Amino acid sequence: MKRLLILGGTGDAAKLAREASQMSDLEVVYSLAGRTRNPNLPECKVRIGGFGGVDGLVSYLSEAEIDLVIDATHPFARAMAQHAAEACVQANIPRLKFCRPAWRQGDVSWISVVDYAGAAEYLKELGDRIFLSIGTRDLKAFSSLTEKWFLIRAVEQPAMPIPLDNHELLLERGPFDEAHERTLLVTCQIDALVSKNSGGAMAAKLTAAHDLGIPIVMIEQPDLPEGKVLDRIEDVLEWLQ
Ligand code: NAP
Repeated sequence: MKRLLILGGTGDAAKLAREASQMSDLEVVYSLAGRTRNPNLPECKVRIGGFGGVDGLVSYLSEAEIDLVIDATHPFARAMAQHAAEACVQANIPRLKFCRPAWRQGDVSWISVVDYAGAAEYLKELGDRIFLSIGTRDLKAFSSLTEKWFLIRAVEQPAMPIPLDNHELLLERGPFDEAHERTLLVTCQIDALVSKNSGGAMAAKLTAAHDLGIPIVMIEQPDLPEGKVLDRIEDVLEWLQ
């Protein structure tokens, strides 16, 4: 019996954990940072909370007798990805990064930026009413834009106050279809949309904004640590075999 640690926190990661749990001779441990109050939990062993950096993760891998690691965290979970890469090298354990392919421009086009500060800089010229569709943890970079009004969307009430003078918080859980997103953009009179390039199927907010001629500012994915990356669950299951 081998023991697999899946670093999770996305719908795809939970799906992968469910499917990997069906494999014979494999015990799956699914790990979450513990940010969400009602997380999507697969039917396997679950652990919740940080490991305590690289050293903490190296200790955990040894104590929990982990044989291999799949980092299926969100592409913007940069610290966890780096820690996983370093800890697995130190512990001499195979590690795979699972990451949905980033969205590419084609039918939908956007202004690409590398970080939140870059997005905030562009917004200065892009109207007054902004749909800041990036979650609620990285909003500080936009707090100097005091003349703007921001629409923020979250699944649940954020633990910390939102650091923006003028904003409205909308609590709703996706997935959202294009009609829903179009109505939201029109009703809120949105002038520009900011998104992270989370990848996978093209998000309805992007196609809706594009159709309405609303400019999109896209924060592109940070570089991944070196190592094997797969972007389809089927390929990951094959790698596990
Ligand atoms: P992060 O900045 O890379 O990680 C910060 C710290 O959180 C890590 O150093 C680690 O703490 C802990 N951590 C993160 N993921 C963990 C996991 N799966 N299991 C155990 N500990 C974990 O990550 P983040 O951007 O805060 O994201 C946190 C979680 O939310 C991840 O699971 C990610 O998949 C999910 N998520 C993130 C985004 C996003 O846009 N960033 C979007 C959707 C979902 P220690 O150093 O103490 O080990």
